Amino acid sequence: MSDHDTLTMVGLTSTVPIEIVYASGLKPIDLNNLFICADDAERMVGQAESAGFSHNICAWIKGIYSVVVNRDLKRVIAVTGGDCSNTIALAELLERRGVNVIPFEYPRNKSKSDLAAELDRLRSALSTSWDKIKTETLRLNRIRKKLLELDRLTYEENLITGFENHTFLVSSSDFKSDPDMFDKELDDFLAEARNRIPRQDRVRLGYLGVPPIFSDLYEYIESLDGRVVFNEIQRQFSIPFLGDDIVEQYLSYTYPYDIQGRIDDIAEAVRTRQLDGLIHYTQTFCFRQLYDIILRDSLDTPILTLEGDRPGTVDGRTAIRIETFIEMLGHRK
Ligand code: SF4
Repeated sequence: MSDHDTLTMVGLTSTVPIEIVYASGLKPIDLNNLFICADDAERMVGQAESAGFSHNICAWIKGIYSVVVNRDLKRVIAVTGGDCSNTIALAELLERRGVNVIPFEYPRNKSKSDLAAELDRLRSALSTSWDKIKTETLRLNRIRKKLLELDRLTYEENLITGFENHTFLVSSSDFKSDPDMFDKELDDFLAEARNRIPRQDRVRLGYLGVPPIFSDLYEYIESLDGRVVFNEIQRQFSIPFLGDDIVEQYLSYTYPYDIQGRIDDIAEAVRTRQLDGLIHYTQTFCFRQLYDIILRDSLDTPILTLEGDRPGTVDGRTAIRIETFIEMLGHRK
């Protein structure tokens, strides 16, 4: 990373209103994506453990820490409300390592005025104006609209794999630090995908929960004639709610608030995308594992709960459970 990049990059611990970051002239970079896409992701987990992180802290938190240190990032926006309680302590640790940490909180009460005040705090911390934010909102919404089309081509036209859908949606949390380049890449991809022959999968799946730490999960599912046609949280990261009111957009985003919004979103996807089953991914040592109980209580669709710990490929036991689940769903049809 050049000195200029070091000065203009802002690390994100989770999805935030990047319209405000781009309006300030800075470049957001999602630390989760940097970590999981790195060739040495497993090594970075070990690096954080060597720095003192105990084994029962989730691998994503360790990865984020190592990425900030290794990239020598000077500024991070830490989502200290609505994401992960570990981020609160991580933010303090990074501050003590000399990082300028800007906290951002989604209000637990989902109040529009509280969220508007929080957005304004971020605007002020990044020294930008509402006029510039408005311009960025329009620019990014044009790309978000194309992501909606990519999603439609996945579940309606059956032209796109679960992994491709996951990759584009999850990358839109920062638009790869360059929205124009992302836009071009997306245009090229959509043009190519529209010429494909539609897939005919035996089993249609929804993927729930935080993105998987497994590198080959989607590939493995597709080798069994199943396909993920709904990536719940990745789709939420893409803020698929267009409009000219940024506060409303980030109020509709289900991930930071109570689980009922997620349940409604999933139930609608089960119906409209004709899902045969759901895979709920949980991360070892993550408090969000508790949501598994509520999801099972609230949804009638068969659910397979998976757990992943460290970066790597799908382990043997998980592979057998996925295979059995897909077999079972295939027989039910
Ligand atoms: S997976 Fe869970 S524990 Fe880990 S960073 Fe995400 S929310 Fe926090």
